[in-house]
Amino acid sequence: MTDVKTTTEPLLSIRDLRTYFHMGSVTARSVDGVSFDVGAGETVGIVGESGCGKSVTALSILRLIQPPGRIEPGSVIAFEGKDLVTLGDEEIRNVRGNRISMIFQEPMSALNPVFTVGDQVAEVARIHAGVSRKEAWNRAVEALSLTGIPAPGDRAKQYPHQLSGGMRQRVLIAMALMMKPALVIADEPTTALDVTIQAQILDLLVGLQKQFGTSILMITHDLGVIAETTSRVIVMYAGEIVEQAAVDELFAKPHHPYTEGLMFAMPHIGRDQERLNVIPGTVPAPTAWPVGCRFRERCPYSWDLCEREHPPLYQIGAGHISRCHLAIEPERRNHPHPPLVVQEGAAA
Ligand code: SF4
Repeated sequence: MTDVKTTTEPLLSIRDLRTYFHMGSVTARSVDGVSFDVGAGETVGIVGESGCGKSVTALSILRLIQPPGRIEPGSVIAFEGKDLVTLGDEEIRNVRGNRISMIFQEPMSALNPVFTVGDQVAEVARIHAGVSRKEAWNRAVEALSLTGIPAPGDRAKQYPHQLSGGMRQRVLIAMALMMKPALVIADEPTTALDVTIQAQILDLLVGLQKQFGTSILMITHDLGVIAETTSRVIVMYAGEIVEQAAVDELFAKPHHPYTEGLMFAMPHIGRDQERLNVIPGTVPAPTAWPVGCRFRERCPYSWDLCEREHPPLYQIGAGHISRCHLAIEPERRNHPHPPLVVQEGAAA
């Protein structure tokens, strides 16, 4: 496997992460040998369809995997000089919320409906900074103000149901940034929001990232979100990294057929939106990854080598890797079979 060097010293360095779910005689290999770095102050995106392993990767970093899932021996999640995989329970609790925090997809379920949002943001400071109730409240109002919530002192006294979805997501961002963590993991942070609010929330995240120098790991199924917010992108498919590159390079010269498919499926202004393009087929089950290339049944270029040999990560260019045998037989790209399916009137 080829390691890709980031331009900055890695803050987070993941090596051969394997997170499996053991269910009797069946094992789901949801994350299956993933290695990547996130530099200090860097924004890295992980993109892929549901079931590709991106959210399980995020939960593994925070050690939030519940039985029957477990991080397999030999996996390494190095962060600020510690291996998070082997850290004791108290130490990992200290890392969570203090040095690494997470923004979840659905703000309503991440907030407690019976406490005011100010109390919930203040609670983070009380737990992790050990400050007085009054000081925690002041810090909460300040954090809400940083996220652009108008009249933050008044809003802090409201309950989650009294706020809009966009405001609730701003509250979660305030909670995530309260302790000025080194790394924020944002798992589909805008999926539950209207399109106009999505753009505002992404702008806010990018602005705060620049202001505080926080690293962000952005987990999304949406390449549009990747283009707007990240400098480097990791494409995951069937529990593995299949492509990694700087974001400009990936959009200009995608190499892996799965990445091409994701791009083809992106809605474009001017394209007939009644006809949405999709990648044919579905992600295989993690209990039975296919032999050879895991994408081959959906790939328009597959040939017998793809059936026989699991592709390694080939180096395509500086900082650009792709898990596709086309790296050694590029002329096969000229003879696709069958073409990508166009599904009539499909919904996103
Ligand atoms: Fe397609 Fe073969 Fe490349 Fe897999 S290795 S993505 S099947 S061309």
